[in-house]
Amino acid sequence: MQKVVLITGASRGIGAATAQLLGQQGFTVVINYKQNVQAAETVANTILSNNGKAHLLQADVTDEKSVEAMFDKIKADIGIVTHLVNNAGVLNTQTRVEHMTAARINNMLTNNVTPYFICAREAIKHMRLSANPAQCAMVNVSSAASYLGGANEYVDYAAAKGAIDSFTKGLSLELAAEQIRVNCVRPGCIYTDIHGDGGEPDRVDRLADFLPLKRGGTAIEVANAIAWLLSNEASFVTGTFIDLAGGK
Ligand code: NAD
Repeated sequence: MQKVVLITGASRGIGAATAQLLGQQGFTVVINYKQNVQAAETVANTILSNNGKAHLLQADVTDEKSVEAMFDKIKADIGIVTHLVNNAGVLNTQTRVEHMTAARINNMLTNNVTPYFICAREAIKHMRLSANPAQCAMVNVSSAASYLGGANEYVDYAAAKGAIDSFTKGLSLELAAEQIRVNCVRPGCIYTDIHGDGGEPDRVDRLADFLPLKRGGTAIEVANAIAWLLSNEASFVTGTFIDLAGGK
């Protein structure tokens, strides 16, 4: 069976590391990106230069029609999506709940929650067409913020990720009878550029000493867990969470 994995937001960070790892493991990797085609091409070229298979597809995952078109294009040009990594996400600047507007909160949910549902919905349609749905799987990238709370920084982001945890559990139960597995990773402080977007590029360095392991994590450490959850080695694992947060 051809394994086709779609990774949303894969032009950098955890998504890019996951794309490169899965590219080495025999997956045909579809790299979704929103804007930065050059960064996405760099990820694809790394996979191709290691004799892997990679494709690029632009889509803003907050746009339902674009997501549907992306899945249609994959089916027409590449094959059935057998694996999904719901990874694309955003961080907002740090503030306390008392300063949060409805616009900010809604923006957080629009970017970090609804696209996971829509991409999963479209992926399920593909997986049901697969020769062997029991070989299909999804991983949702949540955050340690979902159980830590994000106090004084971004409770809205933490709450959005908490929704992803519930989504993972509920969807895993809906799909269990079909043997389609749905799991979740919850990274803690990982060195990626998302922290700059959140207004504090050095956030991981600031917090590293407070972690039991006394260091920040790397994107490949998260990618390794995602790859395992997608693999047949995790064939009896569904509706679960792997916390990659240095002991927090
Ligand atoms: P990142 O900013 O490097 O990567 C996020 C990617 O998502 C970017 O390439 C961005 O362009 C893409 N993206 C955002 N909105 C999109 C949209 N509407 N359509 C398509 N692509 C879109 O950050 P990262 O750290 O690699 O984050 C990946 C995931 O990990 C996110 O869901 C994030 O919330 C989560 N996470 C990260 C950390 C961390 O410390 N880095 C911790 C916990 C959770």
